Amino acid sequence: MPELPEVETVAAGLRPHLVGRRIVRVDLRFPTIVRHPEPEQFVDGVTGRVVEALTRRGKYLLFHLTDGYLMVIHLGMTGHLQLFEPDSDFAPHVHAAFLLDDGKQLRYRDVRRFGRLLFGTEDELLAHRAIPRLGPEPIDDAFTATDLYRRLHARRAPLKALLLDQAVVAGVGNIYADESCFRARVRPDRPGSSLSRPAVRRLREALQESLTTAIANRGSSVDSYRDAFGERGSQQERLLVYGRGGQPCATCGRPLSTIRLAGRTTVFCRRCQR
Ligand SMILES: [Zn+2]
Repeated sequence: MPELPEVETVAAGLRPHLVGRRIVRVDLRFPTIVRHPEPEQFVDGVTGRVVEALTRRGKYLLFHLTDGYLMVIHLGMTGHLQLFEPDSDFAPHVHAAFLLDDGKQLRYRDVRRFGRLLFGTEDELLAHRAIPRLGPEPIDDAFTATDLYRRLHARRAPLKALLLDQAVVAGVGNIYADESCFRARVRPDRPGSSLSRPAVRRLREALQESLTTAIANRGSSVDSYRDAFGERGSQQERLLVYGRGGQPCATCGRPLSTIRLAGRTTVFCRRCQR
Protein backbone atom coordinates (compact mmCIF):
# COMPACT_ATOMS: atom_id res chain seq x y z
CA MET A 1 0.00 0.00 0.00
CA PRO A 2 1.35 3.45 -0.81
CA GLU A 3 2.47 5.20 2.37
CA LEU A 4 3.68 8.75 3.01
CA PRO A 5 6.82 8.59 0.79
CA GLU A 6 4.99 7.00 -2.14
CA VAL A 7 2.10 9.49 -2.00
CA GLU A 8 4.58 12.35 -1.67
CA THR A 9 6.41 11.09 -4.78
CA VAL A 10 3.16 10.93 -6.76
CA ALA A 11 2.21 14.47 -5.66
CA ALA A 12 5.64 15.85 -6.58
CA GLY A 13 5.51 14.16 -9.99
CA LEU A 14 2.05 15.43 -10.89
CA ARG A 15 2.31 18.92 -9.39
CA PRO A 16 4.11 20.72 -12.27
CA HIS A 17 1.66 19.22 -14.79
CA LEU A 18 -1.54 19.93 -12.85
CA VAL A 19 -1.24 23.22 -11.00
CA GLY A 20 -2.96 25.95 -13.01
CA ARG A 21 -4.83 23.44 -15.19
CA ARG A 22 -8.64 23.46 -15.41
CA ILE A 23 -10.50 20.14 -15.26
CA VAL A 24 -12.81 20.36 -18.26
CA ARG A 25 -14.42 16.92 -18.19
CA VAL A 26 -14.71 13.99 -15.80
CA ASP A 27 -15.34 10.50 -17.12
CA LEU A 28 -16.42 8.33 -14.18
CA ARG A 29 -16.26 4.74 -15.37
CA PHE A 30 -16.72 3.05 -11.97
CA PRO A 31 -18.89 5.50 -9.99
CA THR A 32 -18.65 3.74 -6.61
CA ILE A 33 -14.94 4.66 -6.42
CA VAL A 34 -16.39 8.06 -5.33
CA ARG A 35 -17.22 7.84 -1.61
CA HIS A 36 -18.42 11.41 -1.05
CA PRO A 37 -20.67 13.06 -2.16
CA GLU A 38 -22.85 11.23 -4.71
CA PRO A 39 -21.00 10.46 -7.97
CA GLU A 40 -23.07 13.02 -9.97
CA GLN A 41 -22.30 15.73 -7.41
CA PHE A 42 -18.63 14.77 -7.53
CA VAL A 43 -18.55 15.19 -11.31
CA ASP A 44 -20.45 18.50 -11.15
CA GLY A 45 -18.20 19.79 -8.36
CA VAL A 46 -14.89 18.96 -9.98
CA THR A 47 -15.77 19.91 -13.56
CA GLY A 48 -14.74 23.43 -14.55
CA ARG A 49 -12.56 24.03 -11.49
CA VAL A 50 -8.87 24.93 -11.65
CA VAL A 51 -6.24 22.97 -9.69
CA GLU A 52 -4.66 25.76 -7.61
CA ALA A 53 -2.32 23.50 -5.61
CA LEU A 54 -1.60 19.82 -5.10
CA THR A 55 -0.47 18.76 -1.63
CA ARG A 56 -0.25 15.64 0.51
CA ARG A 57 -1.59 15.06 4.02
CA GLY A 58 -0.86 11.63 5.50
CA LYS A 59 -1.63 9.17 2.70
CA TYR A 60 -4.12 11.54 1.05
CA LEU A 61 -3.58 13.59 -2.11
CA LEU A 62 -5.30 16.97 -1.86
CA PHE A 63 -6.18 18.79 -5.08
CA HIS A 64 -6.96 22.34 -3.98
CA LEU A 65 -9.60 23.59 -6.41
CA THR A 66 -11.20 26.97 -7.07
CA ASP A 67 -13.44 28.44 -4.31
CA GLY A 68 -11.84 26.51 -1.46
CA TYR A 69 -12.96 23.06 -2.59
CA LEU A 70 -10.85 19.93 -2.41
CA MET A 71 -10.74 16.84 -4.54
CA VAL A 72 -9.19 14.21 -2.27
CA ILE A 73 -7.73 10.94 -3.54
CA HIS A 74 -6.63 8.02 -1.37
CA LEU A 75 -4.80 5.40 -3.41
CA GLY A 76 -5.90 2.50 -1.19
CA MET A 77 -3.89 -0.65 -1.91
CA THR A 78 -3.34 -0.46 -5.66
CA GLY A 79 -4.37 3.04 -6.83
CA HIS A 80 -2.33 4.75 -9.57
CA LEU A 81 -2.54 8.26 -10.99
CA GLN A 82 -0.89 9.01 -14.29
CA LEU A 83 -1.19 11.50 -17.16
CA PHE A 84 -1.98 10.27 -20.66
CA GLU A 85 -2.76 11.60 -24.09
CA PRO A 86 -6.57 11.44 -24.25
CA ASP A 87 -6.66 9.31 -27.40
CA SER A 88 -4.38 6.61 -25.89
CA ASP A 89 -5.96 3.27 -25.02
CA PHE A 90 -7.40 2.82 -21.57
CA ALA A 91 -5.69 0.20 -19.43
CA PRO A 92 -8.03 -2.16 -17.57
CA HIS A 93 -9.27 -0.90 -14.18
CA VAL A 94 -9.24 2.83 -15.03
CA HIS A 95 -12.14 4.08 -12.90
CA ALA A 96 -11.96 7.84 -13.48
CA ALA A 97 -10.41 10.11 -16.13
CA PHE A 98 -10.02 13.87 -15.81
CA LEU A 99 -9.54 15.82 -19.06
CA LEU A 100 -7.43 18.94 -18.52
CA ASP A 101 -7.51 22.20 -20.48
CA ASP A 102 -4.09 21.46 -22.00
CA GLY A 103 -5.49 18.32 -23.64
CA LYS A 104 -3.85 15.83 -21.24
CA GLN A 105 -5.90 13.32 -19.29
CA LEU A 106 -5.28 12.30 -15.67
CA ARG A 107 -6.39 8.71 -15.13
CA TYR A 108 -7.11 6.92 -11.86
CA ARG A 109 -6.52 3.17 -12.10
CA ASP A 110 -7.10 0.77 -9.21
CA VAL A 111 -7.17 -3.01 -9.60
CA ARG A 112 -8.40 -3.81 -6.10
CA ARG A 113 -10.66 -0.73 -5.74
CA PHE A 114 -9.77 0.03 -2.13
CA GLY A 115 -8.94 3.61 -3.12
CA ARG A 116 -11.41 6.46 -2.92
CA LEU A 117 -12.20 9.79 -4.52
CA LEU A 118 -13.85 12.59 -2.55
CA PHE A 119 -14.98 16.17 -3.15
CA GLY A 120 -15.99 18.97 -0.79
CA THR A 121 -14.62 21.58 1.55
CA GLU A 122 -12.29 20.33 4.27
CA ASP A 123 -14.90 21.11 6.97
CA GLU A 124 -17.61 19.24 5.09
CA LEU A 125 -15.40 16.20 4.47
CA LEU A 126 -14.43 16.07 8.14
CA ALA A 127 -18.04 16.55 9.29
CA HIS A 128 -19.16 13.64 7.08
CA ARG A 129 -16.20 11.54 8.26
CA ALA A 130 -15.21 11.18 4.62
CA ILE A 131 -11.66 11.94 5.79
CA PRO A 132 -10.42 11.26 9.34
CA ARG A 133 -8.80 13.72 11.70
CA LEU A 134 -5.12 13.02 11.13
CA GLY A 135 -2.22 13.23 13.54
CA PRO A 136 0.89 15.33 12.83
CA GLU A 137 3.09 14.92 9.77
CA PRO A 138 6.11 12.94 11.01
CA ILE A 139 8.50 14.62 8.56
CA ASP A 140 7.61 18.15 9.70
CA ASP A 141 10.21 19.93 11.82
CA ALA A 142 7.30 20.88 14.10
CA PHE A 143 6.81 17.17 14.97
CA THR A 144 8.60 16.93 18.32
CA ALA A 145 9.64 14.01 20.49
CA THR A 146 7.58 15.57 23.30
CA ASP A 147 4.45 15.42 21.16
CA LEU A 148 5.19 11.84 20.10
CA TYR A 149 5.82 10.83 23.73
CA ARG A 150 2.45 12.27 24.78
CA ARG A 151 0.67 10.49 21.91
CA LEU A 152 2.29 7.10 22.64
CA HIS A 153 1.50 7.37 26.34
CA ALA A 154 -2.15 8.37 25.84
CA ARG A 155 -3.30 4.81 25.09
CA ARG A 156 -2.41 1.23 25.94
CA ALA A 157 -1.60 -0.51 22.67
CA PRO A 158 1.44 -2.10 21.07
CA LEU A 159 3.82 0.46 19.63
CA LYS A 160 3.26 -0.72 16.07
CA ALA A 161 -0.54 -0.42 16.38
CA LEU A 162 -0.08 3.18 17.53
CA LEU A 163 2.27 3.99 14.64
CA LEU A 164 -0.27 2.59 12.17
CA ASP A 165 -3.07 4.69 13.72
CA GLN A 166 -3.39 7.72 11.41
CA ALA A 167 -4.68 9.83 14.32
CA VAL A 168 -1.39 9.28 16.20
CA VAL A 169 0.92 10.10 13.27
CA ALA A 170 -0.19 10.57 9.67
CA GLY A 171 1.13 8.61 6.71
CA VAL A 172 2.93 5.67 8.37
CA GLY A 173 1.95 2.16 7.25
CA ASN A 174 3.36 -1.33 7.58
CA ILE A 175 6.67 -0.73 5.76
CA TYR A 176 7.83 2.40 7.54
CA ALA A 177 6.49 1.35 10.96
CA ASP A 178 8.78 -1.71 10.90
CA GLU A 179 11.70 0.23 9.41
CA SER A 180 11.40 2.97 12.04
CA CYS A 181 11.18 0.54 14.98
CA PHE A 182 14.33 -1.20 13.75
CA ARG A 183 16.26 2.05 13.30
CA ALA A 184 15.13 3.18 16.77
CA ARG A 185 16.09 -0.25 18.26
CA VAL A 186 12.65 -0.68 19.88
CA ARG A 187 10.43 -3.76 19.66
CA PRO A 188 7.21 -3.11 17.76
CA ASP A 189 5.20 -5.35 20.11
CA ARG A 190 5.96 -3.57 23.38
CA PRO A 191 3.35 -1.14 24.72
CA GLY A 192 3.83 2.31 23.21
CA SER A 193 3.38 3.73 26.70
CA SER A 194 6.45 1.79 27.93
CA LEU A 195 8.89 3.83 25.80
CA SER A 196 11.26 6.08 27.73
CA ARG A 197 11.91 9.63 26.58
CA PRO A 198 15.28 8.68 25.00
CA ALA A 199 13.60 5.81 23.13
CA VAL A 200 10.89 8.16 21.85
CA ARG A 201 13.58 10.61 20.68
CA ARG A 202 15.25 7.78 18.75
CA LEU A 203 11.91 6.79 17.30
CA ARG A 204 11.14 10.31 16.12
CA GLU A 205 14.56 10.48 14.44
CA ALA A 206 14.01 7.03 12.94
CA LEU A 207 10.61 7.98 11.51
CA GLN A 208 12.07 11.09 9.91
CA GLU A 209 15.08 9.21 8.52
CA SER A 210 13.18 6.27 7.10
CA LEU A 211 10.51 8.47 5.53
CA THR A 212 12.80 11.15 4.08
CA THR A 213 15.24 8.53 2.75
CA ALA A 214 12.32 6.78 1.05
CA ILE A 215 11.13 10.06 -0.49
CA ALA A 216 14.66 10.66 -1.83
CA ASN A 217 14.52 7.18 -3.42
CA ARG A 218 11.04 7.81 -4.87
CA GLY A 219 9.26 5.32 -2.61
CA SER A 220 9.19 1.56 -2.20
CA SER A 221 7.78 -0.58 -5.01
CA VAL A 222 7.26 -3.71 -2.93
CA ASP A 223 3.95 -4.37 -4.69
CA SER A 224 2.14 -2.55 -7.46
CA TYR A 225 3.23 0.96 -6.48
CA ARG A 226 4.38 3.18 -9.38
CA ASP A 227 5.02 6.91 -9.46
CA ALA A 228 3.11 9.43 -11.60
CA PHE A 229 5.18 8.39 -14.63
CA GLY A 230 4.60 4.65 -14.20
CA GLU A 231 8.15 4.13 -12.82
CA ARG A 232 9.10 1.98 -9.83
CA GLY A 233 10.68 3.51 -6.74
CA SER A 234 14.00 2.15 -5.47
CA GLN A 235 13.62 2.24 -1.68
CA GLN A 236 12.56 -1.45 -1.65
CA GLU A 237 16.22 -2.35 -2.35
CA ARG A 238 17.29 -0.51 0.82
CA LEU A 239 14.68 -1.71 3.32
CA LEU A 240 16.30 -3.04 6.50
CA VAL A 241 13.57 -5.33 7.86
CA TYR A 242 10.32 -5.06 5.89
CA GLY A 243 9.85 -8.21 3.81
CA ARG A 244 13.12 -9.68 5.17
CA GLY A 245 11.81 -12.14 7.80
CA GLY A 246 14.31 -14.99 8.33
CA GLN A 247 17.13 -13.09 6.61
CA PRO A 248 20.14 -11.87 8.62
CA CYS A 249 19.79 -8.66 10.62
CA ALA A 250 21.88 -5.88 9.02
CA THR A 251 23.33 -5.05 12.44
CA CYS A 252 23.95 -8.37 14.26
CA GLY A 253 23.53 -11.02 11.57
CA ARG A 254 20.94 -13.10 13.46
CA PRO A 255 17.79 -14.11 11.53
CA LEU A 256 15.01 -11.51 11.67
CA SER A 257 11.80 -12.61 13.42
CA THR A 258 8.32 -12.43 11.91
CA ILE A 259 5.20 -12.03 14.05
CA ARG A 260 1.60 -11.00 13.44
CA LEU A 261 0.80 -7.67 15.10
CA ALA A 262 -2.16 -5.32 14.64
CA GLY A 263 -3.29 -7.68 11.89
CA ARG A 264 -0.07 -7.10 9.93
CA THR A 265 3.08 -9.10 9.25
CA THR A 266 5.77 -7.55 11.42
CA VAL A 267 9.53 -8.13 11.13
CA PHE A 268 12.10 -7.20 13.75
CA CYS A 269 15.35 -8.34 15.38
CA ARG A 270 14.99 -9.96 18.81
CA ARG A 271 18.57 -9.05 19.71
CA CYS A 272 18.85 -5.45 18.46
CA GLN A 273 15.36 -4.22 19.34
CA ARG A 274 14.31 -3.98 23.00
ZN1 LIG B 1 20.02 -7.61 15.04
